[in-house]
Amino acid sequence: MKTVCDFCKTEYSLDAVPTGPVKCAVCGHTWTVSRPPRRSPILVFIAALCALLAAIVFAVAVMYQHRITEIREHPLVAELDDVTTTTDENNITRFVISGRVLNRSDQIYGVPGLIVYSYDSNGKIVDRQRFMPSATLLDAGDNVLFSHTLSVPVANVDKISVELEAQGE
Ligand SMILES: [Zn+2]
Repeated sequence: MKTVCDFCKTEYSLDAVPTGPVKCAVCGHTWTVSRPPRRSPILVFIAALCALLAAIVFAVAVMYQHRITEIREHPLVAELDDVTTTTDENNITRFVISGRVLNRSDQIYGVPGLIVYSYDSNGKIVDRQRFMPSATLLDAGDNVLFSHTLSVPVANVDKISVELEAQGE
């Protein structure tokens, strides 16, 4: 830290705050060096907390904006709730998928067709099937349940995904 003689303005560099008064080597004036103002740890903590809260509020605002944009672009979503199996008279077991189509927007929407993709263990599409849910229109916030039996046997399928058919497809 630095201290300056009050009388002759000579500047001195100190390693630490002296316990008693200091004497100027030039003019002999003595004075007491005061401790530099320290930032209170509580204030530092509060400032850090405020910065963190501001960052969180900003992040939530960004996420909320992202969600609004996402809903605007994709008002309808298909969700897979359950996958079971069924075995037919020829002893072939197939997956039965069930789920729902949700309308996340505040408008009424026509329900598009659903496409089920079946993948093998290498991630390659082995089957693509289209089917229609039971409802043709979905009110704002509503959902319609669906259930569908895949045509490919269980042994050939490693992964299933359900997608909404793009409008105009
Ligand atoms: Zn001096």
